[in-house]
Amino acid sequence: MRRYVETPQMDKILSLSKRRGLVFQSSEIYGGINATWDYGPLGVELKRNLKDLWWRSVVQQRDDVVGLDAAILMHPEVWVSSGHVAGFSDPLVECRECHQRYREDQIDATACPDCGGELTDPRQFSLMFKTFMGPVEDSANQVYLRPETAQGIFVNFGNVLTASRRKLPFGIAQIGKAFRNEITPGNFTFRTREFEQMEIEYFVKPGTDDEWLHAWLDDRFSWYTKHGIRPENLRLRRHDPDELAHYAKDTYDIEYRFPWGWGELEGVANRTDYDLRSHATPTGRDQDLTFFDEESKEHVFPYVIEPSGGVDRATLAFLLDSYDEEPDPPPKPGEEVQAKDVRVVLRLHRALAPVKVAVLPLSRNERLAPLAHQVHMLLRPHLATQYDDAQSIGRRYRRQDEIGTPYCVTVDFDSLEDKRVTLRDRDTMAQLRVPIADLPAILNDKLEHGW
Ligand code: ATP
Repeated sequence: MRRYVETPQMDKILSLSKRRGLVFQSSEIYGGINATWDYGPLGVELKRNLKDLWWRSVVQQRDDVVGLDAAILMHPEVWVSSGHVAGFSDPLVECRECHQRYREDQIDATACPDCGGELTDPRQFSLMFKTFMGPVEDSANQVYLRPETAQGIFVNFGNVLTASRRKLPFGIAQIGKAFRNEITPGNFTFRTREFEQMEIEYFVKPGTDDEWLHAWLDDRFSWYTKHGIRPENLRLRRHDPDELAHYAKDTYDIEYRFPWGWGELEGVANRTDYDLRSHATPTGRDQDLTFFDEESKEHVFPYVIEPSGGVDRATLAFLLDSYDEEPDPPPKPGEEVQAKDVRVVLRLHRALAPVKVAVLPLSRNERLAPLAHQVHMLLRPHLATQYDDAQSIGRRYRRQDEIGTPYCVTVDFDSLEDKRVTLRDRDTMAQLRVPIADLPAILNDKLEHGW
C-alpha cells in the first residue's frame, strides 16, 4: 500500500472535511503530528451517529448482546496472556540510503519504493504503546495502551455472565479507543496510531461456531449496505490459512473499495476458545471464564465469534460513498456546466447525517424571524437542527446539501398567513408545503422511512 494517496476523490473529501469542519489535522497550529486527526463540529456528530447506529443495531435491538465500557489501561499481564507481548508486531524494514521505514508485508519491492535503495532484513517491531503507571518510571510500573478493545471484554466475561444471567449464545459489545504504533500510518483516517474500534465478542457453544461466524458475517455486511455503502464497493475476503492470526480458526475481512484499492473495514474472526483459556491459566480462575452447561453438567470454554470494526474507517467509507456532484440547474443541450452550477451533495443515510433539518427563513427579515425561530424551537428538542439566515436561500440550500442535511424547512411570507412551510428533500430537491403543526410528525416519519 502506498503511503500517501492523492486521488481527485480523496482531495475532495479532504477539502470538504477541512472547509466544513468534519476532520482537522491534529495540533495543526504546531505543524501537525503525523497521521493524527481531530473530528470537528460536524465530524463528531457524524461519528457519534455512526456509533449510535451500530450500538442500536448490535446491542439494543437484540436480546442476546449486552454492552461494556472497559478501561484503556489494563493489568500488564493481560497482554502477556493474550499473546500481544510476544507476538503483536509487524516486520519492519528500513532503507539503508534514505532511512525510510516500511512494513515488509505492505510493499512488494526488494528495494526502497521511495529511492530504490537497499533494504535491511526485517525485524519484528512491537506495535504496543508503553507508558508508566504512577510516579516511578521503572519497568515494574510499565503498562500498555490497549491495542484492541477485545481483551477488556474477555477479562470481564465472568462478571458479565453473573451480572446479566446470560446463557449461550450471547455477546458483549464495546466501543472504544485503541492504540497501535503503526510503522506506516497514512491514507487520512484509514490507518492511524490512535483510533476507535467497535467490537463484539459473541460466545457460542463449541460446534456451533461455523454457523455463527456466517450469521455475523451476513449481519455485518448488510449493516453497511443498508446504511449507504454501495454493494459494488464492498466485498468479503477470506483469510488464507497462512494469514490467520495465531488464535483464529477462520476469518473474513469485510473490505471497502477505497480510492487507493480494497482495504479492511471490519474483520469477522472465529477466535475459538483461545482467549478465555489463555486468561484462565495464569489467573487460575477457570470457573469465572467458563460456562456451566446445564445439559452436560460440565464447565465449557465457549468459542468466540468476533466482528471487529473500525469507527474511523467506517466513517471515511460512508463519507466517500455519499459524496456526489451534479449540475444544478441541468445544462441545456450543448452548454458547458459552470463551476458555480455544480451542486455538491453528501447523500448520507438520514441516520448518519450530522444535521437532520435546517430551518431557513426565506430572507433575513424582521417579519419572518419570529416565526422562523418558533419553528426552530418546535424542532430542536427532538432533532439535530441548524438555523441559518445568512446569504441567499439558494446558497443556504447548497451549504446544507454539502454537509448532507436531509431536509430543509423554509419559512416565507405566505407562512405568516397560512402557517405552512416548505419542506425540501436533499436528494431529489422536491418540495412540499406542510402545516407547521404537523412538522415534527412528518419529519419523524421521513427520517425513519425516507422522502
Ligand atoms: P490492518 O490489516 O489494516 O492493519 P488489522 O487486521 O490489524 O488491520 P484488526 O486487528 O482486525 O485490524 O482490527 C479491527 C478493525 O480495527 C479493523 O478492521 C479496522 O477497521 C480497525 N483498525 C485497525 N487498525 C487500525 C488503524 N491503525 N487505524 C484505524 N483503524 C484501524
